Amino acid sequence: MGDLRSAALAYVRAGQVRAHTVATPPGAPAPVLVVATVHGHNGRYQIVYDATRPPEDRWSCPCRHSDLCPHIAAVGLWAGHPGLAARTIPERTRL
Ligand SMILES: [Zn+2]
Repeated sequence: MGDLRSAALAYVRAGQVRAHTVATPPGAPAPVLVVATVHGHNGRYQIVYDATRPPEDRWSCPCRHSDLCPHIAAVGLWAGHPGLAARTIPERTRL
């Protein structure tokens, strides 16, 4: 599933990630709140990252084609969560 990481990197490199809100507390290694728009191949997606939510609910993207989509991975790369893009797609989405 290198495609996910490649797509995410492509979005970041092409400047297709536009953050509207980024909140990083003093001394924190990464933002606790990110609201960003990713210009994807099929439209624009608003991605929200909220570190105050449970781990499985922290990221949301309206495309919803998996738990981790290229849009979320792109914002993750952009915002300093590179591990997200390295994660593989969960088994249950490969139906
Ligand atoms: Zn998405």
